[in-house]
Amino acid sequence: MNSKLKTPVEYLKGVGPQRAELLNKELGIFTFKDLLDHFPFRFVDRSKIYTIAEAPVNEAAIQLKGYIRNVRTIPQKRGQRMVATLEDESGQMELLWFRGLHWISKYLLPNTLYIVFGKPGFFNGKKNIVHPEIEILKEQQADLKLGFSPVYNSTEKLKNRGLDSKGIQKLTAHLLSEIKDSDLPEFLPQSIINKYRFPLRAKAYREIHKPGNPRALKMAQARLKFDELFLLQMKIVGSRQYRKVNIPGQVFDQVGTNFNALYKSLPFKLTKAQENAIRDVRKDSLSGKQMNRLIQGDVGSGKTVVALLCMMLALDNGFQSCMMAPTEILAQQHFKGISEQLEKLPVKVAILTGSIKGKERKQILTALSAGEIDLLIGTHALLEGSVVFKNLGFVVIDEQHRFGVAQRAKLWKKNTKPPHILVMTATPIPRTLAMTVYGDLDTSLIDELPPGRKPIQTLHYFENKRLKMHGFMRKQIELGRQVYVVFPLINESETLDYKDLMDGYESISRAFPMPEFHVSVVHGQMKPQDKEMEMQRFAAGKTHIMVATTVIEVGVNVPNASVMVIESAERFGLSQLHQLRGRVGRGADQSYCILMTGPKLSNEARIRMDTMVRTNNGFEISEVDLKLRGPGDIEGTQQSGITQLKLADLSKDQKILQEARICAEEILDNDARLEKPEHQVLLKYLIVHSKQEKTNWSLIS
Ligand code: ADP
Ligand code: MG
Repeated sequence: MNSKLKTPVEYLKGVGPQRAELLNKELGIFTFKDLLDHFPFRFVDRSKIYTIAEAPVNEAAIQLKGYIRNVRTIPQKRGQRMVATLEDESGQMELLWFRGLHWISKYLLPNTLYIVFGKPGFFNGKKNIVHPEIEILKEQQADLKLGFSPVYNSTEKLKNRGLDSKGIQKLTAHLLSEIKDSDLPEFLPQSIINKYRFPLRAKAYREIHKPGNPRALKMAQARLKFDELFLLQMKIVGSRQYRKVNIPGQVFDQVGTNFNALYKSLPFKLTKAQENAIRDVRKDSLSGKQMNRLIQGDVGSGKTVVALLCMMLALDNGFQSCMMAPTEILAQQHFKGISEQLEKLPVKVAILTGSIKGKERKQILTALSAGEIDLLIGTHALLEGSVVFKNLGFVVIDEQHRFGVAQRAKLWKKNTKPPHILVMTATPIPRTLAMTVYGDLDTSLIDELPPGRKPIQTLHYFENKRLKMHGFMRKQIELGRQVYVVFPLINESETLDYKDLMDGYESISRAFPMPEFHVSVVHGQMKPQDKEMEMQRFAAGKTHIMVATTVIEVGVNVPNASVMVIESAERFGLSQLHQLRGRVGRGADQSYCILMTGPKLSNEARIRMDTMVRTNNGFEISEVDLKLRGPGDIEGTQQSGITQLKLADLSKDQKILQEARICAEEILDNDARLEKPEHQVLLKYLIVHSKQEKTNWSLIS
């Protein structure tokens, strides 16, 4: 980075050590560059000034002009509030502050003309604005129309020191007048700038902090968003390319007896999508390079059997495999299911989880390093250093969203030539997001369900329909089906969650009494063996109802269970609801999902329920989820660099992302080492910045 921009923010005029410390702590702003990268989060059109009488209530933030009168503090339960009256020729309204009174009181001069900015509300028959932005209007500017202006994030502490949005705007404007365009040098190749008619980088920075007109602002935003996404894609595509060229992989060139025997013994025909996924893996395993592949497939699309066939392929070529699941229950279930499927084959399968200790554990580890175990199933216990394989060739990671990149890397190291990695996720994510979250993996999509499945019917009931819901459950049980009843688990208060669950269990037990009905319960405070036993009883059809927390969320497979009741469904996110629903619909019977909610739903909760009722398609649901929550909250995104994006929003800027991806691929496809003259500025920029981020661009170049 240019040295001027590295200057600590403290040395900017108007900052000083105390404000600098706050900027560090509150907003992570340390240098001039950090301040420039603290972009406005929105812009307001301040060309119009409303009168109090015409000001719309509960709509948008607007601008008013008037005199402040009658400033007073009013004690309340905790602390006090400050109230001022704003008056213009059309009437009066109240301005209210609950926090930062000390700072604001110095600023509120009675009988002075102000410009006030905020969203009007309505209280006690009067219009008001809570925590408006205010600014004294100098007489000579009284008729001045302010233009388009940026709004910056700030915090209470900063505001108390005069660094509200306005204060930050002033600092930034000052900084921009101090620096030269050459302090923000260009790094995009000229061809990209021409292609999209982008403004130059320095110009874009100036424009976004001090917008001239809406069009120029839009171009500046597009340019800077592109920069962020392009740099991220260069990193992702670059590391994928680097790996593809440089990391050798095991070659599986035999299709042998185990693969064929398993294939022939399957009680069903694989779907086209399953066949394709296996073909992709085969191709990768012949390339001589390490495979890093993601299988994305909706719940119930049959990913396990694909993984199993691939592991047989590894075995036929003399390699061990392992399969890592996110929970003990799931590992157990895979172990059981896979052992059954491989019963007639000479394959040694073992399980290793955290609860397997002592002598038993030692035996497994010894057999593993001696090469006597072909296929090891387990939880993250597999990652431990003591787990040593003789010749690990293939790794399956089930339900990837629970594991990070670092954990994947630990598995790489379990053989001198790294094993192939197959990651499976049942959390569909939008295509654009996948480009970034899983951008360093090759992807196979299993986009069809095995034939004959009936789509799950989803119903949304309010609390007052509880009896009806019980009646429905009873009818299904009489038809020989089984039912899950799931309670939310919110980490904030485990005891409360536990109480909810136990209350629910009791009321279910009362509504479905012995000896006619049998009810199981599984929750987080039970020992793994007890959980396992209850799951087994339910799986074996000995109990009719399984009352559980979300421990059953991922991967559990009981085909005869055809009803999923989700209690307090409004407390679940969409992807979780979809995962839970995926626990039913696995057999031949019509399956149902019933979402129970309280009577009052937020808008967002309402959309979630309606989406679930409307569609079974995981990808469609994930698109809605992305819109509702934003990308940072979607599982798996935390490690992906998305959360570092300052300007781009993956739910809104998908088009820019796509372009950025294409540009990055084009550049790296034609000039993998960035040797061409037109890429020198870019290379230099990447090398400088990768030193700060620890991605090694100098390795690639
Ligand atoms: P998921 O992709 O959610 O992990 P599973 O692998 O658990 O799904 O498969 C769900 C169920 O579908 C299992 O009972 C499995 O045996 C069955 N299954 C898998 N593939 C097929 C197929 N091609 N035809 C019919 N049933 C299949
Ligand atoms: Mg699965």
